[in-house]
Amino acid sequence: MTRPVLIVGGGLGGVAAALGLGQQDISVRLLEQSAEIAPIGYGVQIGPNVLPVLKRLGLGDEVRRASYLPDDLLLLDAHTGEQLVRVPLKGEAFERRYPAPYIAIHRVDLHEILLKAVRQLPCVDLNQATTVRGYSQTSDAVQVQTEAGESIEGCALIGADGLRSRLRAQMHPDDAPRDTGYVAHRTIVPMREAPISLHKRTGVTMWTGDGFHVIYYPLRERTEMNIVAVFRVPSGLEPTDNDGYRNYIDDTAARTQPEVRDVISMVNLERRWSIADRNPLRQWADGRVTLLGDSAHATLQSLAQGAGMALEDASSLTALMMKNPTDPAHAFAAFERQRFVRTARVQLESRALWHTYHCGGADAQVRTQQLQERTTEDLYRCFDWLWNVPPTHGGAPA
Ligand SMILES: Cc1cc2nc3c(=O)[nH]c(=O)nc-3n(C[C@H](O)[C@H](O)[C@H](O)COP(=O)(O)OP(=O)(O)OC[C@H]3O[C@@H](n4cnc5c(N)ncnc54)[C@H](O)[C@@H]3O)c2cc1C
Repeated sequence: MTRPVLIVGGGLGGVAAALGLGQQDISVRLLEQSAEIAPIGYGVQIGPNVLPVLKRLGLGDEVRRASYLPDDLLLLDAHTGEQLVRVPLKGEAFERRYPAPYIAIHRVDLHEILLKAVRQLPCVDLNQATTVRGYSQTSDAVQVQTEAGESIEGCALIGADGLRSRLRAQMHPDDAPRDTGYVAHRTIVPMREAPISLHKRTGVTMWTGDGFHVIYYPLRERTEMNIVAVFRVPSGLEPTDNDGYRNYIDDTAARTQPEVRDVISMVNLERRWSIADRNPLRQWADGRVTLLGDSAHATLQSLAQGAGMALEDASSLTALMMKNPTDPAHAFAAFERQRFVRTARVQLESRALWHTYHCGGADAQVRTQQLQERTTEDLYRCFDWLWNVPPTHGGAPA
């Protein structure tokens, strides 16, 4: 019996890679630490570069049906109320320029669509409650060791184990996630419970402020509103000081427009995600092992492209493994070369935008002037490299 390709991690990247390989009759064993492959239940924006990847997997129509199509991307100043940027996401100019719509989808819905397709493939074996500790390899096989003490063998290993990847830590022991000092709060509210000020918003609305931003968009035929609020944690504030944190948020909200205050009042402050990314890394491949998605190139969410890059990765990697069916090390080296610049650019542009979104004082005034000078054509030009994905990265439907 041929050894399977092992995939560690059942996030969007890992499941998409399992689907892509499984559709080519490659035997796959996916190992996920959670008891259920249970995706985090919040919204995700998916740029026009990503739907072609999902189309290639045969899921384009289904994903579109489950998606909301925002009218625009709107960037507003949370303190003054000024509009800084409006990027239309519908209309002839957008459609002529980009290969697919810009969509917003509940992550659970997208994950479920991918998982349903994977479950139909007899050559893909999904293993939950399996935490991988590390790997070893010989000239013709790889082995992963699990927390339960099991050793599982495969012909190749894909580490899709996210931002805090253990496989990356083994490959690069000195490399660690880069903490930003910001935390995110994510909430989904039924539209009927959303503040009335939000009902007029039909696109992706983002308010930028000094040390924070809030962003929201409708999901599921506008029956829900996805809200993300991100704040810089003041230095000296203990992580356990909930009252201090609440006071800080109240002070921040008091300096904002009424609509921003409405949104912040809806946010669940109990649950926080620390925001971190990774430095661009040239080496994701180690013989028969490769990293994919956030484990290879975790990015800040400024361009809303982390999941998109993981899905593009899955598409490129599948194609390269099909080209080199008996030589995964060769395919993985080519994968790293093919994907490095595009993913590093997402990481670095996202960092630059992080400053744009959170600056204050003179920086914010200059930022406002620069952004307000841009025409729609200028804005589209900024996104062209990202939203028009080359065929080798999953662009053109098969
Ligand atoms: C606030 C916020 C908003 C975002 N918004 C967007 C957006 O709008 N658009 C977008 O494209 N991206 C967005 N992202 C980024 C996106 O969520 C990630 O880039 C994407 O989910 C990465 O997918 P992945 O499969 O690589 O990793 P993950 O989704 O992190 O999956 C990793 C999986 O590996 C499993 N795992 C980890 N370690 C082990 C182990 N040792 N053994 C077995 N299993 C293991 C985990 O349980 C998990 O299931 C956002 C991120 C944040 C924080």
